[in-house]
Amino acid sequence: MVYCATTLSDLGFLYPSESHIMSNITVYSAAKIITMNPARPEAQHVAVKDGKVLAVGTLEEIGTWGAYTLDDRFAEKVLMPGFVEGHAHVMEGTLWRYVYCGYFDRTDPAGTTWPGNPSIEAVLDTLKAAEVKLEDPDQPLTGWQLDPIYLEGAEVTRADLDKVSSTRPIGVLNASGHILYANTPALEAAGYLKPGMNHPGIPLGSDGLPTGVLKGPDAMQPVNPFVGLSKSFSDADEQGLKDFASLCVRSGVTTVTDLAAKLEGDSVDMMLRITGAPDYPACVVPMRFFLGMPPSELIPEVARLKKRSTDRLDLGRIKVVADGSIQGFSARLRWPGYHNGAPNGLWYIAPEQLQEIYELALAEGILVHTHTNGDQATQLAIEKLDAALRKNPTPDHRFTLQHCQLADRAQFRRMAALGMCVNLFANHHFYWGDEHYRLTVGPDRALRMNATRSALELGLPLAIHSDAPVTPLGPLFTAWCAVNRVTASGRTQGEFEKISVEDALYAITMGAAYTLHMDHLVGSIEVGKRADFSVLDADPRDVPEMELKDVPVWGTVQGGRVFPASKA
Ligand SMILES: [Zn+2]
Repeated sequence: MVYCATTLSDLGFLYPSESHIMSNITVYSAAKIITMNPARPEAQHVAVKDGKVLAVGTLEEIGTWGAYTLDDRFAEKVLMPGFVEGHAHVMEGTLWRYVYCGYFDRTDPAGTTWPGNPSIEAVLDTLKAAEVKLEDPDQPLTGWQLDPIYLEGAEVTRADLDKVSSTRPIGVLNASGHILYANTPALEAAGYLKPGMNHPGIPLGSDGLPTGVLKGPDAMQPVNPFVGLSKSFSDADEQGLKDFASLCVRSGVTTVTDLAAKLEGDSVDMMLRITGAPDYPACVVPMRFFLGMPPSELIPEVARLKKRSTDRLDLGRIKVVADGSIQGFSARLRWPGYHNGAPNGLWYIAPEQLQEIYELALAEGILVHTHTNGDQATQLAIEKLDAALRKNPTPDHRFTLQHCQLADRAQFRRMAALGMCVNLFANHHFYWGDEHYRLTVGPDRALRMNATRSALELGLPLAIHSDAPVTPLGPLFTAWCAVNRVTASGRTQGEFEKISVEDALYAITMGAAYTLHMDHLVGSIEVGKRADFSVLDADPRDVPEMELKDVPVWGTVQGGRVFPASKA
């Protein structure tokens, strides 16, 4: 139905014939609209035209733009800016077609919740149940999200996986994505099952042969194709990209990064086609993974990719990985190292290569996000960017450290001085906080992990993330983690580093948009920006802080198109 504001004629703006024309302005009324625009922080009406926000305010104010169609389906809902997930991997959409081996219950793209596996026996039973259903004896069996740290710390070896099948190749990804567990046939197929293997990512058993634990992309990549992981491992396939979008709608996400994409020719064409479909509900922001070509070729390649960007596939950024994961003991830590005495972790990049990427990217205006987990890796990134900026001084570069879990306040101060941003891994408090306290880094450093308050206090632009599939996509859950810092056992860890609900909601909208150089497009409900909304059943600021994660998400509006979670 087309309405005209009754006050328009009083204001002298009304053209009578307009009320007879079908309007191309849609006005959504809502119980409340939280805009993240300080000039107009709350409203009850938002006008959308051509997929963008035309106006926010009262019906009278909005009516000054002319005739509109009033849509009151959100009359009882609260609208927020569509959530921006600044660190995820769309391959989770593909992984859901493999066997879920995680410890916690988890919901798939269709909305079905899969039970967690509380022991190594449970994991092996889950894999066996899937194995007997495979008809082709050569088809590999692929699992994901295995986390031995929860299984009484047991290391999973090829002998364990051989119990599922000693003839069929089996590969199971660690929850961090940085470790692969392979059985004997998988290692044989990749030529790994021989004495004398000498690689820091390939531990050997007492028999001198690989144990089946493969740490880091270097060690994993030759085995991946034999366990069904060749394509999916960094780039989602067609179905996976669609399925991941369902997870986005369910969690209120309208802009999502894909933080380690290979982006080879075919896959970019595919991503452009899938995201270009009229009903694709999110903007995907893939960052080109640094491996696979030297920096001198990588930077021009990414500059070319940038030119292929569309409204729903935003290209032209680089992701570098400096070290591994803390719970996998493959992160690089400064003194005193791991609390349990584990040897220091792995470098995934040579220091000279890191500096070269930074220098060339700064010169070309290409944004680089760098994964650092351990504080030694963070220190390397700071020093190399400092050196690169001395050669190529660049204002507003927004180079971002991703995870940056162990940074101390001195490192944050230096990052702020260099103009860096940080995207902290808030979900770790819940999923691995107890293990960090007890086992990996010990009490002192566990208290300051993912130091959100320090980052804000010291002037760093802040985002927080899920790293899906490492932990489930869900910005309200991520905000809950940063606000409450509760571990899986129910302890509060690091009282000082808690942030307010307001700050956490900013981090999952404008904060993440800023780190992507997309704050002019998304992150707030504001004139000229994309009409991206997260549609909620309640105002997250009005519920008790411990219930922040439970605020129901009705669905999303992306680029002015409405996507109910019930149909995702
Ligand atoms: Zn990641």
